[in-house]
Amino acid sequence: HYSENKIYDTIIIGGGQAGLSVAYFIKRTSSNYLILDDQSEPGGAWLHTWDSLNLFSPSQYSSLSGWQMPPCKKEYPTKYELLTYLAEYEKRYDFPVLRNTSVSQVSKSEEVFQVETNQGKFYCKSLVSATGTSKNPFIPAHPNANDFKGRQIHSVDYRNTNDLIGKKVIVVGGGNSGAQILAEVSKVASTKWVTLNEPIFLPEHIDGRHLFAAANDKYFNKQAEESGPKISLSNIVQVESVREGLKRGVFKDHRPFKAFYENGVIWNDDTKEPFDVIIWCTGFKANLSHLEKLDIIDNNRTETNYTRSVQQPGLWLVGYGNWTGFASATIFGVGKTAKHTAKEIVSFLETKKAE
Ligand code: FAD
Repeated sequence: HYSENKIYDTIIIGGGQAGLSVAYFIKRTSSNYLILDDQSEPGGAWLHTWDSLNLFSPSQYSSLSGWQMPPCKKEYPTKYELLTYLAEYEKRYDFPVLRNTSVSQVSKSEEVFQVETNQGKFYCKSLVSATGTSKNPFIPAHPNANDFKGRQIHSVDYRNTNDLIGKKVIVVGGGNSGAQILAEVSKVASTKWVTLNEPIFLPEHIDGRHLFAAANDKYFNKQAEESGPKISLSNIVQVESVREGLKRGVFKDHRPFKAFYENGVIWNDDTKEPFDVIIWCTGFKANLSHLEKLDIIDNNRTETNYTRSVQQPGLWLVGYGNWTGFASATIFGVGKTAKHTAKEIVSFLETKKAE
């Protein structure tokens, strides 16, 4: 499938949903391309989410371009159903994915990108970075965090409640991750929920599919923005575990503590409270360390025009969030940006050929 010495038209770094999505549209052109992915199997970040994770949209709204996810057992797909779908998707279109291949650095010389990996060097005329955010979990800074003797884990490292039984746990984060993890942990542990603001639970019948439609409208239609309801893709969807948690009354929210001490946290009124574990469900930032040598990265960001790098011709960034295209960090949303990206790449390669 691949060769180290050839100069590919396009290399895609990352074989998660964003990388596969771009590949789907590139495959329909005459370009030759290769996907480099550091995982040993298909699925990207979904391989590393917690065991009981449920997606927040039904299967037809959790699908990539070209082929819909088959109906799932319950209303919302489980992570395992999505992993099966992504593996089948990759097989169906026979994408050339080189696995266990980690890109350490990218440089450019005479209009050719040089991609350094643990499996050797690869060369290409155009490059797509689709490395996701899961390698760069975000934890807000707190005074004396290092004094705390308990455990601190980020949601990316949380799997299940096995080692939390009977513990005192703080879950931090008012989005879907925080809500789903709190619902589960509160069954076996004593929990407190810390959120920046009062969390917003969507009505039972509103889920990801409605959010996409409403958010799309708001994004592209100024009037809707001014008059419409306040909606966000990070509002909490009532998947089964959340519904059940609401019935048990576990979602009592507290504003953030101000510091740590060795046995726990100090609240804003200066009271101290001991805890065994803090679970940070506080999100992620883009993982762009492999692009450092190109000298275009500033604080996990680079300037983009939709998905195209403004400073580096021939480079596109896909799937990192709204700054790389509306809802591009979601399964349903990434297709649109991937299609646009492939179109721009084709025209870039044609211009190069004509020069
Ligand atoms: P990834 O899946 O992270 O894929 C990137 C790939 O690149 C990975 O395989 C990674 O290992 C690899 N990689 C990274 N760096 C390198 C490197 N230097 N060299 C080679 N390979 C590299 N979205 C929805 O639409 N619906 C949902 O219900 C939903 N639920 C979510 C729940 C959670 C808990 C989280 C965290 C996210 C959720 N999302 C959801 C958002 C989004 O769909 C996922 O985060 C998705 O995995 C992002 O896909 P991606 O392809 O951009 O990144």
